Amino acid sequence: MRRYAVFGSPIAHSLSPFIHAAFARQTGIALEYVAIEAGHGDFAEKLAASGVDGANVTLPLKEDAFALCRSTSARAQRAGAVNTLLHEGDGWRGDNTDGLGLVRDLTERHGLDLRDRRVLLLGAGGAARGVAPALLDAGIHSLYIANRTAERADALADALGDPARVHPRGWDALSDLGEFDLLVNATAATRTGALPVLPMALVAPRSVAVDLNYGASAVAFLAWARAAGCAQALDGLGMLVEQAAESFSLWHGVRPETDAVYAALRARVETSPAA
Ligand code: NDP
Repeated sequence: MRRYAVFGSPIAHSLSPFIHAAFARQTGIALEYVAIEAGHGDFAEKLAASGVDGANVTLPLKEDAFALCRSTSARAQRAGAVNTLLHEGDGWRGDNTDGLGLVRDLTERHGLDLRDRRVLLLGAGGAARGVAPALLDAGIHSLYIANRTAERADALADALGDPARVHPRGWDALSDLGEFDLLVNATAATRTGALPVLPMALVAPRSVAVDLNYGASAVAFLAWARAAGCAQALDGLGMLVEQAAESFSLWHGVRPETDAVYAALRARVETSPAA
């Protein structure tokens, strides 16, 4: 039986094993998928010792994973971050399915048209790096990147190489940016309920807000988005399922159907305060 894992920290509540088990049942592929706790110091060692056929990588290891790959896909190179590892000889090839996952969720599940939209991306970590190229590829008008550590927003903007559309900013500039069609929370701040104050002036009645977090970690941002008057406030569960489906397809050559798994996951998260 082929063996897969997701590496990250904290990893105990990861939903990836549930998702991949569901995809495996649906497609009739025999596999095992486990969650392995690993941090910056022991990731490479634990990955080597695991003997897995492929892996996902989550917070805080996506940039570490990028650094250890022998080769990387074009979308992983633009992101500077890897969330999917595939064997390449005795080393690893890295890919990044986060961006495609978000864009598929927004456009196919929620029916949004991203073309010519003004987008605010909060955060410049591994997740933000993954989604930014895909948002640009979806034809948005402009991407403002605001991060607590302004230098990381600058570095992400430099890596994207699209100065006409990409504008890095510090948090202190948020009140001067005007209204956005789409606001994306790609920070880990809300995991601890510590979302910095966001001006309501960022929101118009047409605005859609999406938090890449889900469950308890998404409550603070989504509550702010609703209070500010967003037309829709979405969490990251749909992206989670879609990025997993893309990883599954890279490993197994079969793209699973996601709607039933998304519904099962939604039911699971809504009855589990720890998710
Ligand atoms: P990283 O550790 O790489 O980056 C964390 C980001 O959050 C940085 O931009 C960091 O800013 C910011 N941040 C952390 N704490 C605070 C705070 N108190 N105030 C303001 N900003 C803060 O994590 P990832 O980018 O990998 O993940 C970010 C979130 O997205 C996670 O919660 C993760 O669960 C979620 N995610 C969801 C996915 C899905 O499929 N739905 C996929 C990937 C991620 P700074 O640079 O200043 O430290």
